[in-house]
Amino acid sequence: MTETVHVNLPGREYDIEIGAGVLDLAGARIAAIGGRGHVAILTDETVGGLHAASLQEVLRGAGLTSDVLALPAGEATKSWPHLERSVEWLLEQKVERGDVVVAFGGGVIGDLGGFAAAILRRGVRFVQIPTSLLAQVDSSVGGKTGINSPSGKNLIGAFHQPSLVLADTSLLNTLPKRDFLAGYGEVVKYGLLGDAEFFTWLEQYGPALAEGDMDARVRAVRRSCEMKADIVERDEKEQGDRALLNLGHTFCHALEAATGYSDRLLHGEGVAIGCALAFELSSRLGLCSQEDPSRVRQHLKQMGMKTDLSDIPGYLPDADTLLALMGQDKKVVAGQLRFILSRGIGHVFITSDVPKDAVLSMLNDALAQR
Ligand code: NAD
Repeated sequence: MTETVHVNLPGREYDIEIGAGVLDLAGARIAAIGGRGHVAILTDETVGGLHAASLQEVLRGAGLTSDVLALPAGEATKSWPHLERSVEWLLEQKVERGDVVVAFGGGVIGDLGGFAAAILRRGVRFVQIPTSLLAQVDSSVGGKTGINSPSGKNLIGAFHQPSLVLADTSLLNTLPKRDFLAGYGEVVKYGLLGDAEFFTWLEQYGPALAEGDMDARVRAVRRSCEMKADIVERDEKEQGDRALLNLGHTFCHALEAATGYSDRLLHGEGVAIGCALAFELSSRLGLCSQEDPSRVRQHLKQMGMKTDLSDIPGYLPDADTLLALMGQDKKVVAGQLRFILSRGIGHVFITSDVPKDAVLSMLNDALAQR
């Protein structure tokens, strides 16, 4: 089963092809994009070790030669030194304007590789072949590329849309369970922010999907990509609606900062906890029913995911400090904290009108349960 989602951005449109085995299409699809017939592949050492040979084989089958640069796996790779190394390597590969760069990995490689392609010769085309669930449902779509700065996450970057996304769901078979569930946090987010029926479907099929049900995986990736594509088409550069995709992220970024961006809390885990907190806050403000946050937490727990602040190991700072960390989020506008709150599952909105005391009291209660 192969599904295609089209991202309709005039002049920068592209397809996302989703399915078990779509990696096999890479040769034909990349050859059709054009270039000199040589493909530069950026990957990380883990994904490269497991899957780069298969990708190169498929490219060879379509008459394309390729070379691979495998960078260390992990968030620290989204940095100036690895960007410099990648761009210099691409120049050594003699990548020209018409050529194609492939970003083959999770969100780290997708963001870094996309940014390298954006700045190389003022922009070369690139193809995303996302290999983590998070990358397949979120980071490979929509053209946000970049690296982290010592001053904060994702502070340096560019909007640069890929020419094609190939999301091969069978590659997820080698993804560690913890990374899979972290990516699932983003899948749940889509149901919560805009499709109550999808959330109900996830409540039913989420466990099978995690166990490896391929049809369920394809359907979940497709629905997530459709929702992301729809929002990106409406608001490519995040002037408005695209911020809805940040449901759970204001809390998540504060928790990531509080845990030092370490493996105490993966990004998708923070998103899941952040979604639960956003629904809890919405319910306390009388915006949604009390059942909604319970339902969100119940599904996350059913999936074996981190759900509450008590699921984060080690020290966490007090509520005031967490609130101050939220204020450092790059989405803060003119010092005003913005929250994505909910009027019910599938219905969210952006607001700056949230009493600070309500946030503090909720965080204090959540911390007291640790
Ligand atoms: P990641 O790229 O670090 O991948 C997680 C881990 O899984 C890594 O160790 C990687 O080597 C491994 N891995 C990936 N695919 C694998 C596979 N098929 N088999 C075995 N191991 C595999 O992290 P991620 O969770 O994919 O992405 C997180 C990054 O994405 C963050 O930097 C975040 O800022 C970014 N992000 C970007 C956007 C965007 O719109 N650009 C959106 C959300 C997140």
